Amino acid sequence: MAELIFRKGLGLKDAVAGALTADYHSGLIESIKNADFRHLSGRLTIHLAREFGFCYGVDRAVDYAYQARRKFPEQTVYLTGEIIHNPDVNDRLRALGIRFLSDPGEDPDRVGPGDVVILPAFGVTIAMLEQLQRQGCTLVDTTCGSVLNVWKNVRRYAQDGFTSIIHGKYKHEETRATASQALQFPNGRYLVVLDRAQTRTVCDYIRDGGDREAFRGQFAPAASDGFDPDHDLGRVGLANQTTMLMSESVEIAGMLRQAIADRYGESELPARFRAFETICSATQDRQDAVIELLDRQALDLMIVIGGYNSSNTCNLARICAARLPTYHIAGVDALLSAGAVRHRRVDGVEVVDEGWLPPDRPLAIGITAGASTPNAIVGQVIERLGALANAG
Ligand code: SF4
Repeated sequence: MAELIFRKGLGLKDAVAGALTADYHSGLIESIKNADFRHLSGRLTIHLAREFGFCYGVDRAVDYAYQARRKFPEQTVYLTGEIIHNPDVNDRLRALGIRFLSDPGEDPDRVGPGDVVILPAFGVTIAMLEQLQRQGCTLVDTTCGSVLNVWKNVRRYAQDGFTSIIHGKYKHEETRATASQALQFPNGRYLVVLDRAQTRTVCDYIRDGGDREAFRGQFAPAASDGFDPDHDLGRVGLANQTTMLMSESVEIAGMLRQAIADRYGESELPARFRAFETICSATQDRQDAVIELLDRQALDLMIVIGGYNSSNTCNLARICAARLPTYHIAGVDALLSAGAVRHRRVDGVEVVDEGWLPPDRPLAIGITAGASTPNAIVGQVIERLGALANAG
């Protein structure tokens, strides 16, 4: 019987290596790395963070997608949605003829035997996986090992009667998939908290109780069905979406731990509180590298490159924006001119700023990129920056 789920590639790594290099590699970036991550271009000095761009999970997911297209040339190949949060990469996959089930007019109910469906790096919910298996599709699973590790922890929490508190964005594909893991066990429960403010609300309820219906109303879309804060906050285990801000996740773990200790006493902590660090090492490395760059180097401004819906990119931008003028751009097209740049502010609003590139003096510009941004795009941004700053 033909294999129906591929989890370790499709044996065509070498066959697609050339196409991947052509689409995503940058000779300029390689030479900048070899020059101690520094690049001179007229009045500009570019300083690259020492870790940036494609992570191991994204590398593998994109590789498997190219392999899938090559292995099944006659079959319809789908992705459940964006493979990663980078518009350029997703457009390239569309150009290869890979269809997105999340696009208008597509319908997961209509795929079946003979169709190939690629599962993205951040995974899919158990319901989606079961549906695709029921419908007899061939699956290419690119779920990142770091995401699988979070799922393992969440399943263990549920098995042991702990509610999973997930630090993440409840609409994010990864967090929805992670939350679904908690429901595999009869009494599995989850609650997604976005930030410190929401965690404070949870901690207040743990300590003092409160208005149950108001709590449920506030967290309704981010909690498991029938969530009962009076019962379900008595034993909690923390997990993270893998791409959150590390410093915030650590703080959230401390807040929850303290709330449980205040309510039940320190001696009850082992029975009522658990936490595992589930920020992935690639996210952590990129956050550490940008902090190191900001600490080491005087910079005029920072450019952070990545999709607007890329969580790890947004968090890199938050780190930078707290220190200096920062422009989170999706790609090279955002550099409209030496006078104007289109970017996403940390509050999520896209704006066009005038006068962003100070004229007529040397400039030091820092650059980093999220885990879903290929080097080719970083290279294009650096070339365009040089052209804009040195024109005339
Ligand atoms: S950001 Fe982390 S969890 Fe996500 S794909 Fe990359 S390595 Fe995996």
